[in-house]
Amino acid sequence: MAVLKIEKLGSSVLRRKADEIEEIDPELRELIADMFDTMYEAEGVGLAGPQIGVSRRVVVIDVNNPDHPRMALINPRIVDSDSRTAKEEEGCLSIPGVSAFVKRPEEVEVEAIDESGRPVRVRAGGLLGRCLQHEIDHLNGVLFIDYLSPLKRSMVLKKYRQMQAEEEAEAREKSRDRSREGSKEGGQNSSTRRGR
Ligand SMILES: [Zn+2]
Repeated sequence: MAVLKIEKLGSSVLRRKADEIEEIDPELRELIADMFDTMYEAEGVGLAGPQIGVSRRVVVIDVNNPDHPRMALINPRIVDSDSRTAKEEEGCLSIPGVSAFVKRPEEVEVEAIDESGRPVRVRAGGLLGRCLQHEIDHLNGVLFIDYLSPLKRSMVLKKYRQMQAEEEAEAREKSRDRSREGSKEGGQNSSTRRGR
């Protein structure tokens, strides 16, 4: 059990088509357990292999609804899509901090294999239906920003880059503070001024 690093926009693995999984072995089961840990830690509702740098066709989903227990889907594929569409707000753990309204089929039917190797079929709309489509997109190198108009997409990306720059500046500031404190503590052999 481990929390893995989530790949962010710009990482090439997010744009690659992921490989089919041919065998369900203990290594894959451990990967799935780690993916659940990583998703819960990041407070997401879904996570796909490429997002943790693994270019294999596996996704985990938990939409926090008692009617839909959490699921790990291996080699999932959409076999039927509703002709009706719905537009809802979407975000992505690989593009943190921003969201946008995305139009998708309202309901989809997905075939996959579960962790025990059994075939599963899920038909869903609402949050689960959207999540299934978003995660399967990840396996094909597609991100939700790809559905936006050029203008909307550039606005979302601009906001994302701004937030990333602010976060980096904050991290730099923190590490400067830490090194200052470190040298001070070293010199005075004290444990004061902790907890900033
Ligand atoms: Zn995503």
